[in-house]
Amino acid sequence: MMKIAVFALQGAFEEHEKMLAQLGAECVEIRRRAHFTGSFDGVILPGGESTVQGRLLREGGMLEPLREGILAGLPVFGTCAGMILLAKKISNDEAVYLGTMSAIVRRNAYGRQLGSFFTKETFGPYDDVPMTFIRGPIFEWVGENTEVLSRVDGKIVAAREGNMLATAFHPELTADTRVHEYFLDMAKTR
Ligand code: GLN
Repeated sequence: MMKIAVFALQGAFEEHEKMLAQLGAECVEIRRRAHFTGSFDGVILPGGESTVQGRLLREGGMLEPLREGILAGLPVFGTCAGMILLAKKISNDEAVYLGTMSAIVRRNAYGRQLGSFFTKETFGPYDDVPMTFIRGPIFEWVGENTEVLSRVDGKIVAAREGNMLATAFHPELTADTRVHEYFLDMAKTR
């Protein structure tokens, strides 16, 4: 059974857990440094508020061990705020959190008020994947080793660099499990 660590500090983590359970994976909630020990097949960074999550990760002493794990090859899936935490640079913010993914992201790229919408687009090998955006970021630039998996209106909204997967949208808020299956495949073939 796959064992996935889900960061449960803030935001939409329960929906990820439900989806992973549906796919037969075991979830471990990470709220404190002490929870982030032992071996995991992968890690999920949920959506929410990246500034709050980043602060809680830093204050809780979890930022460094998580960064080290990712750099050592631990598969990670960041949704929305999680994508912001992974990026090496945020174009409209000074902060850098994990900074492991060769990418420049823009926070709240669709505006703060009217930034929520739903669409269906291609994600990697899959067509018509439902995508829920909630004040999401976009990728403004990705490195040469990063594979673009989805574009919406020409803007990159999902990408993978080695063991790191990031989506600007929330697949866990839909009934479609294919993005999570893609991530579990990444974790399996690590
Ligand atoms: N706007 C949030 C941020 O910048 C992300 C929103 C989300 O995760 N749904 O952190």
